[in-house]
Amino acid sequence: MDKVLNSLINALQFEKKHFRKYIAVTEELEKEDTLLESDIMNCRKCSLYSTAVNKVIGSGNLSANIMLVGEAPGEEEDKRGVPFVGRAGEKLEEMLKYIGLSKNDVYICNVLKCRPPHNADPTREQEESCIVFLKRQIKLVKPKVILTLGRHAASAVLDKESKNMYEYLNKVFEIDGGIKVISTYHPAAILYSKGEAKNKIRIQVASDLVKLKGIAGEL
Ligand code: SF4
Repeated sequence: MDKVLNSLINALQFEKKHFRKYIAVTEELEKEDTLLESDIMNCRKCSLYSTAVNKVIGSGNLSANIMLVGEAPGEEEDKRGVPFVGRAGEKLEEMLKYIGLSKNDVYICNVLKCRPPHNADPTREQEESCIVFLKRQIKLVKPKVILTLGRHAASAVLDKESKNMYEYLNKVFEIDGGIKVISTYHPAAILYSKGEAKNKIRIQVASDLVKLKGIAGEL
């Protein structure tokens, strides 16, 4: 009986110790997340702060293994302050569903936290001003794999000059000592392309998503 009681006490102490550690990690995450949010909200490093309705920081699971990075907020995201809502967001949900995931299983953000007026392509200067926040998000979430959506996101995350999508497709890169990075098209590319081009993009995206799931599962 004493033996059973002792092992029960030991098990409870083990649980208590690990629960405390879990709470400490969670508190640390939340503290850093709050600080990051406040730094972004107060940022005026580039002119986009003056035209943005809302800063769009990120959404989803801070402990996710998979992080999705887009280029910049669009009109609907700017209105609501949430990344990937509206039509592109719905397409992204469809993409995630294809590999059995939902938006709550991943962390989602953009390179730029403010919308460029008229959905203009992000400039190099804007990306350079904002990239520090994305780097802090990557450090915070510590994903196993990042999926970049679109050529601007690929070049910013991988710190490369080229905006040519073909330089990033069908490759697996590595950043920050082990985080895998793969690239695919932005959901808007599926929405707004037509005919044969649309088919090609859809096939590419489907294959990239399967690769993403495979890499996340292996790590
Ligand atoms: S886009 Fe980024 S760097 Fe520019 S003002 Fe917004 S948060 Fe700051």
